[in-house]
Amino acid sequence: MMNNEIDTRGILYIVATPIGNREDITLRALSILKEVDVILCEDTRTTGVLLKMHSITNTLMSYNAHATEKKHDSIIALLKEGKKIALVSDAGTPTISDPGIMLVQEALTQLGDDVVIVPIPGASALIAALSGSGISTASFTFLGFLPHKKGRQTLFKEIAGRTRPYVFYESPHRLLKTLQSLDEYIGEQGIVVARELTKIHETFHKGTPKELLDSFEKNPQTLRGECVVIVP
Ligand code: SAM
Repeated sequence: MMNNEIDTRGILYIVATPIGNREDITLRALSILKEVDVILCEDTRTTGVLLKMHSITNTLMSYNAHATEKKHDSIIALLKEGKKIALVSDAGTPTISDPGIMLVQEALTQLGDDVVIVPIPGASALIAALSGSGISTASFTFLGFLPHKKGRQTLFKEIAGRTRPYVFYESPHRLLKTLQSLDEYIGEQGIVVARELTKIHETFHKGTPKELLDSFEKNPQTLRGECVVIVP
């Protein structure tokens, strides 16, 4: 494109939203959410609450892990018309272990240079956990969610033989099982479980997998809430 030509290409903004504390949203994110033609979100109720807080009355369209080919085609058609679309997820940065990545890939595959993908950075549980953990982040490996069955043992072996910190997402109801596996594979080494980040009960639990297991079993109320596990 020449410098003086008007760019009429569609734009897909990848907009980070809070992971708990509602104030963790950038000024740029808010102005993009106000100006786009449509906002794609995982859950219209969750995003609706956020938009209401900021008096944003823009059109919401649902986009989640069950998005069909038809849904993708209708979004691609809007981008082809030159529309501006914002993609948000329930929490944090879309595409990081959530369904938004499918849409970005589809848009790039179908439209190539005829679409502009613009990240609007902000909160992400991965970065919040690492930044508050005190663990060196010069390099690390992020695993997203661990597989429930196939490949799980292989990953624990990989974690046991790590040469840099490993980080992954975990749900509260699977945390105990994961801590048992970590106890088996890494034994007496210290780990960090960052829980309820940016919320009132935000806690960085530190100890060996066995110590954390004992503590969560003794105080089951502390097992609530989403978490990020860091194995230094
Ligand atoms: N895209 C999101 C991001 O950038 O943080 C992550 C989405 S992923 C579907 C959800 C997982 O992120 C949760 O299961 C949990 O492991 C982690 N997570 C999200 N919010 C969190 C929070 N407030 N505290 C700790 N972990 C959180």
